[in-house]
Amino acid sequence: MQEGGEPQGIEVASKRPLFGASADELRAWIAEQGHKPYRAKQIQQWAFHRRAKTFADMTDVPLDLRKKLDAEWTLFATELAYRGIADDGTDKLLLRCRDGRNIECVSMSDPPRRTVCISTQVGCGMGCVFCASGLKGVERNLTSAEIFDQVLQAQSLLPPGESITHVVVMGMGESLANLDNLLVALDRFCSPEDGLGMSQRRVTISTVGLPAKIRKLAGMDRQYHLAVSLHAPTEALRDELVPVNEKVGLAAVMAAADEYFQITGRQVTYEYVLLGGVNDRREHATALGKLLKGRKAHVNLIPYNTVAGLPFQRPEPDDVRRFVETVRRFGVAVTVRRTKGREIDAACGQLRRRLEAPSEPVAIGSRP
Ligand code: SAH
Repeated sequence: MQEGGEPQGIEVASKRPLFGASADELRAWIAEQGHKPYRAKQIQQWAFHRRAKTFADMTDVPLDLRKKLDAEWTLFATELAYRGIADDGTDKLLLRCRDGRNIECVSMSDPPRRTVCISTQVGCGMGCVFCASGLKGVERNLTSAEIFDQVLQAQSLLPPGESITHVVVMGMGESLANLDNLLVALDRFCSPEDGLGMSQRRVTISTVGLPAKIRKLAGMDRQYHLAVSLHAPTEALRDELVPVNEKVGLAAVMAAADEYFQITGRQVTYEYVLLGGVNDRREHATALGKLLKGRKAHVNLIPYNTVAGLPFQRPEPDDVRRFVETVRRFGVAVTVRRTKGREIDAACGQLRRRLEAPSEPVAIGSRP
């Protein structure tokens, strides 16, 4: 349904996505075609900033080069398979990969911000008990081109004059389980030379909390913002909600996050999904306050988005208020995330699950 987009199907499968080549590789290919290497920059400008949807749109690139590009390359690594726009401006995209697998990405409007939430894996292997993404486990890591493509696709759908200001890696998958591919894509967004030129400080990487990977990222001289999905203030409850905790342990997660702050100077955010009656009681708030007291931390509370078939409830508004007040008493900064795009299933893994469920057919191109 990509209007005016690339031809799709078998022919496309053999073409290389433009992003898949470094600037040097693209320059070399262009030289092989008998054109000046500076054309690479011009083509990347069209792709990343001027929102070309086809090579034919690149009107100041010589026609024969455009034709050669069209024969061997694609602008996008994925195909837009479904788009659902909610009343609050949330735009949910389902992108189909070359192997037929679907990935989700959400573009959220909060003027002047425009945030894109991207996925890093098909499915997820972490098994958090309340999350739709991990219900069938992890199928595979996304390639760096597929990760990059989500921002590019989202950007290409924005009205002229509007740009993506922030990226959050909070879609499907465990971000740090695919750290190498993720970093290639993120570094490219942030590259002023051959990417989108976004500030690293406007990119948030959310993780279930894999200590070795957090340390690795901390040592890589980047400025990405880290968000750790805590969800429970005690070992026993975290073991229950976030099964990977049984292997890792809360203390190791906290130590790695502290190290991230010490090394990068960037304050860490702790995400905490509020599940009605499960982890939203006063004693949980008190334990969370005690755990984070004295740390330069920020807590982001996420009222649960219900997932069909899972036994969890959204928290009561009064319980959310009490939770916030209790944690704040420990001097910890707390915000509550506003829920966006609920009517279009804009939470991790929900849209893909719905579109792929045989019992709930949804026409591609319509709203569920
Ligand atoms: N694997 C990474 C990123 C993916 S999800 C991580 O664990 O952080 C981004 C956040 O959304 C996580 O904190 C995750 O626990 C949370 N989340 C998952 N399902 C949710 C739901 N149904 N409602 C609210 N938050 C959810």
